[in-house]
Amino acid sequence: MKVSIDTKECQECETKACIAACKQFGRGILQLKDGAPSVEHLPKEEVKRLGTECLACEYECWFRGKSVIKIDVPIEGLDEYLRKRGLSA
Ligand code: SF4
Repeated sequence: MKVSIDTKECQECETKACIAACKQFGRGILQLKDGAPSVEHLPKEEVKRLGTECLACEYECWFRGKSVIKIDVPIEGLDEYLRKRGLSA
């Protein structure tokens, strides 16, 4: 799983909803740093260990923030499945 946040928009975000969502539905790994969500306070291995893949940050950013969080979750076999059905990009 890969989480990308385009933090350029976060300075203007009034809700910082991703951070509250992470505390409520995940393990609170997102913290506010210089006006944007960050996991820099934790070692990378700890971020991987604590992440629950709850997707709450993406959902909340989409509805209450600036829609700048993108989560990619690879699904084994999905590309082949789509290709077989003529649905691949
Ligand atoms: S909710 Fe979205 S726009 Fe707002 S601080 Fe979080 S990532 Fe940035």
